[in-house]
Amino acid sequence: MILKQYNISTGTEGFYNITEQVQSTLAESGIRDGLCVVYCPHTTAAITINENADPDVVHDMLLGLRKAFPDRAEFRHAEGNSSAHLRSSALGNSVTVIASQGRLVLGTWQSIYFCEFDGPRTRKFFVRVSG
Ligand code: ZN
Repeated sequence: MILKQYNISTGTEGFYNITEQVQSTLAESGIRDGLCVVYCPHTTAAITINENADPDVVHDMLLGLRKAFPDRAEFRHAEGNSSAHLRSSALGNSVTVIASQGRLVLGTWQSIYFCEFDGPRTRKFFVRVSG
């Protein structure tokens, strides 16, 4: 079992591919078959799995999330980032990936992303591997 923390410097918003960090944590753990949990302890960021091949997919997801969760005059939260809180909960704070024979079981076009909705900030995420 291993728990590792990573820090990440983000821009205003964006998807950051963290697949390599997760794979290297799996390698470091020595566990070949088990589960990797990737978790971010933030309320305006998220973790998700999606396409890595065409960068337009990330562009379109960010656009779609902005359209689905726009800033609204009726929001009360004084910090002014309620739409980022909504996007964070919509995508979720963690993903679980199966580890098999020392490799993450991901589809050809899948990568693991840290999603920033209210940057720029210094963020962190955790990778927990258990066999
Ligand atoms: Zn807030």
